[in-house]
Amino acid sequence: MNLVIFGPPGAGKGTQSAKLVKEFNLFQLSTGDLLREEVSKKNDFGNKIEEIMKSGGLVSDEIINNLIENKISNPEYKNRIIFDGFPRNLDQAKSLDNLLKKYNQQISLALNLKVDNQILVKRITGRVTCSVCNKTFNIFFDPPKTCDLKDCGQRKLITRSDDNEDTIVKRLKTYDEKTFPVLDYYLKKGIMKNIDGMQDINAISDQLFTIIGAVRS
Ligand code: ADP
Ligand code: ADP
Ligand code: ZN
Repeated sequence: MNLVIFGPPGAGKGTQSAKLVKEFNLFQLSTGDLLREEVSKKNDFGNKIEEIMKSGGLVSDEIINNLIENKISNPEYKNRIIFDGFPRNLDQAKSLDNLLKKYNQQISLALNLKVDNQILVKRITGRVTCSVCNKTFNIFFDPPKTCDLKDCGQRKLITRSDDNEDTIVKRLKTYDEKTFPVLDYYLKKGIMKNIDGMQDINAISDQLFTIIGAVRS
């Protein structure tokens, strides 16, 4: 099955996707991660993307759709994709449906993590990522004790350059204006489930396991 994990910046989409990947042998397709990979190449294309990410706006649909088709077309990932951070506007949601149709697939579930803005800001300002295994922690809520590589000695914790208060305010605004309407799109399809994203990380993943388990069987 293919899933969409939905929610504002800092809602816990990446954290929960990592758990779902392990539990159900899924493939996490994070457009944010794919974009950061391009940025790390330090070429003109990557620099252009970095500018947009730092501004808190959205990268063009054309760029995103190309990145996405690359993965959807791969037989290895067929019917086991979690879309994390995508679609982020109505046009992307429609493009996703068309692309999936082209490769004989569909979305079975859209999971919406609901979190209040005040908590989002704290989660984003506290977010750090291990530079070696890419696992995400939080200096307030999920202190980095052990990462996936247990004791990766050369571990360096990185704060994303767009996780500062100025950019966060803009990202939340972009979410309200462009991304929030996508919820209605999935609601109308009858595949949307709301989840209280303000619970503990494990309480949320238990709930997600149950919801997905029920749809799978
Ligand atoms: P998103 O992918 O939606 O932007 P992340 O999964 O990166 O969000 O989570 C944002 C930050 O909040 C991270 O630092 C993560 O460790 C932390 N976090 C995620 N889920 C929870 C939770 N349920 N309770 C407290 N902190 C959380
Ligand atoms: P978060 O979940 O914290 O918002 P992401 O890693 O998903 O972070 O996204 C970081 C940035 O990358 C976004 O603010 C946006 O600029 C860009 N981005 C990610 N996914 C998309 C997308 N599907 N469409 C357009 N821009 C995107
Ligand atoms: Zn690590």
